[in-house]
Amino acid sequence: MTRSARIALARPIRRLFDYQVPDHLDILPGQRVRIPFGRQTATGLVVTADAIPPENIALKPISSTLESWPALPDETLRLLTWAATYYQHPLGECLFMALPPALRRGQAAERRQQVLWQVIPGAPQNLSGNARRQQELLDWLRQQSVPCTTREVAAAGFNRTQLKGLREKGLVHETAGTPGPRPPEESLQDLPELSAAQSAAFNSLPGPAAGFSAALLYGITGSGKTEIYLHYLNRHLAPDSQALVLVPEINLTPQTVARFRRYFGSRIAVWHSSLNDSERLDTWLRIREGEPVIVIGTRSAVMLPFITLGTIVVDEEHDSSYKQGEGFRYSGRDLAVYRASLNRCPVILGSATPSLESLHNARIGKYRLVRLEERAGHARLPEIRLLDIRSRPLEGGLSAPAIQAIRECLEGGNQALVFVNRRGYAPVMMCFDCGHMVECPHCDTRLAYHRRDRAMRCHHCNFQMAAKDHCPKCQSEAFKPVGQGTERTEDVLATGFPDIPVIRVDRDSTQRKGSIQAIIREVGTGAPCILVGTQMLAKGHDFPGVTLVVVVNADGGLFSVDFRAPEQMLQTLLQVSGRAGRGTASGRVLIQTCHSDHPFMQTLSEGKYLPLAEQLLEERTSGNFPPFRAMALVRAEALTMAGSLAFLDSAKAQLTDPALEVWGPLPSVMARRADRHRAQLVVLSSSRKQLSQTLARLCQSLDEKRQTPTLRWQIDVDPLETS
Ligand code: ADP
Ligand code: ZN
Ligand code: ZN
Repeated sequence: MTRSARIALARPIRRLFDYQVPDHLDILPGQRVRIPFGRQTATGLVVTADAIPPENIALKPISSTLESWPALPDETLRLLTWAATYYQHPLGECLFMALPPALRRGQAAERRQQVLWQVIPGAPQNLSGNARRQQELLDWLRQQSVPCTTREVAAAGFNRTQLKGLREKGLVHETAGTPGPRPPEESLQDLPELSAAQSAAFNSLPGPAAGFSAALLYGITGSGKTEIYLHYLNRHLAPDSQALVLVPEINLTPQTVARFRRYFGSRIAVWHSSLNDSERLDTWLRIREGEPVIVIGTRSAVMLPFITLGTIVVDEEHDSSYKQGEGFRYSGRDLAVYRASLNRCPVILGSATPSLESLHNARIGKYRLVRLEERAGHARLPEIRLLDIRSRPLEGGLSAPAIQAIRECLEGGNQALVFVNRRGYAPVMMCFDCGHMVECPHCDTRLAYHRRDRAMRCHHCNFQMAAKDHCPKCQSEAFKPVGQGTERTEDVLATGFPDIPVIRVDRDSTQRKGSIQAIIREVGTGAPCILVGTQMLAKGHDFPGVTLVVVVNADGGLFSVDFRAPEQMLQTLLQVSGRAGRGTASGRVLIQTCHSDHPFMQTLSEGKYLPLAEQLLEERTSGNFPPFRAMALVRAEALTMAGSLAFLDSAKAQLTDPALEVWGPLPSVMARRADRHRAQLVVLSSSRKQLSQTLARLCQSLDEKRQTPTLRWQIDVDPLETS
């Protein structure tokens, strides 16, 4: 009898392909195979190895297998199969996303040769002269006992110049090879002892012996959640098991990786978007081969081919960067929970501002809620004060009391942090004679003014033009920036505090590689300075010298149409506030607002997250919003709004199930972006299963119908942005 297999390809098609399995081949689910496809050959992944062959069709045979073992182990394959259905994304694309780029392209699953450094046997112990760093590097390389990659040398704090210096002196040499598993380092630090509150939280976390469990670790900012993760892994992770620690953005918080490295040494592997192809392949293979690594990674690390996964941690679980914003729109956090259930291991979701979804899951008993409401060491939560700015003159967005507070903070030898929610100099340029505001020619938005680059830029489509000093419409010279951006606040502070370093932290100032590290080093010296920055500053940083946080304008989320806006605003404000007073000196937070009497702002100033979160959750109940109902968006974009709306009307016509609620179609809040007209349909259901089945049918029929070639559509399940 002929054997057949069902195979997925890396293509955006919602179907699998049947192939005959030749007698001499043994294949397994998850394995990579070469197959004839049209006139070419393609790399495929086996989904079902022993399928029932379709009748009356002569199948082409699989040409060969790429390796004898499945590239995707069982749990990874099951995770992605589940995710493809849940997020309505073509299975082939999901599966191939879990492979490193080299393997997607059909290349061999072999470790690449890398440059490895080691000390030449017989080299003298001590350098002559006073090359202190070179001497330290030489000592370090000797201690390693195995050759090290350039990256490992860099991770230990040395640079290429120092390496080359040693090479020129004939003390070290480079060879090509593959870095192997490392013997444990001897000089790893001991973990600090947990405080009483931390121990209590730690002891309430279920251990891995119980199999799958999910815990929500609600620990206020500075309570030492990272310390708890370290202790947990130290106590519970078997020496031969793997672990996954998901973080929102590795590049922003190199401190976290450094902390893990200090205790677990080379057992730590990192996974994020700036790895190159051979680093990806290398790390992927180490995991696939079962090396007992602890992976610290961004969302896509959840798809890595772990085979002995013992623990998962999701740090800052509320962070929106866990959700992929395009293509396969999965949530790394939610996949992590599913993955833990497949691997029968514990997952810990940690945050000072847990998502309403996770709080809800804790309420209904799906997650165990573990509370840690004390800061570590002697640190206390900062006091939060609202500063009404309705009738106050502002300079660079800052009121006089805020500037005075910054002055006092610096005079006390401390550091200040100023949070501005826009990058650039100002969000818009306006003519004070004719009222003209410069808009993006391709989007329904205004161009931001970037003074450093003398440019006006669209933050949505990257359009830019040279900045003008007069109104392009009436030529008036009364053409001025309006509103606050980080550059403007930076300028005002640099003028006001000429002797103090003002450090701007936003996407523009951190583009260069290593710039975040340099900033963290500078702040880490503890010398007085002012940090000015966006969202980026709200992310998990631990700067013990910061005692004052100023929020330039807090009101963004109060009146937004997006149902998630208040939650996100609350999280950002409390996270950024949480950067104050983490060291020995106590901290304060000044929040500038035009709505200091708004009950939301009043409660916020008490600094407590849970009461406000509970209140927001109540509002979601009454509106029947997520997490009380499942939500999906059908998004469309076309060359005209009529085209988008017509498409969505036809989609809506198929959503006839009375148990669904469908809103729209409506134009998106930013209706035109990059010359495409965008609209959306909101679909809500109290049954997740039913929503999923209906959407699957909808996708199938939308795929089958011929659409206008310029029309693009996509489905977003559990959307984060709904406007
Ligand atoms: P979180 O992630 O909860 O905001 P961190 O884990 O960054 O908090 O801890 C805040 C600070 O407190 C860090 O500098 C950390 O080293 C320190 N810390 C936490 N727990 C302890 C402890 N038990 N002993 C000493 N220092 C601690
Ligand atoms: Zn004008
Ligand atoms: Zn634009």
